[in-house]
Amino acid sequence: MVKVTCPICGGKLDIPEDSLPGELFEHEECGAHLELVINEGKFELKLAEEIAEDWGQ
Ligand SMILES: [Zn+2]
Repeated sequence: MVKVTCPICGGKLDIPEDSLPGELFEHEECGAHLELVINEGKFELKLAEEIAEDWGQ
């Protein structure tokens, strides 16, 4: 497992080393939905864009 910092709350997530870019994780501590990004071999997390564009009128 790799420890990656949550960009929302600053806490740590354990990410399996064989995870792929674009995989989604939920941080239980803050409930954020996070997407894995691999940047030059380093695991990073960014906030996943919710596909919930429900702005219909
Ligand atoms: Zn978090």
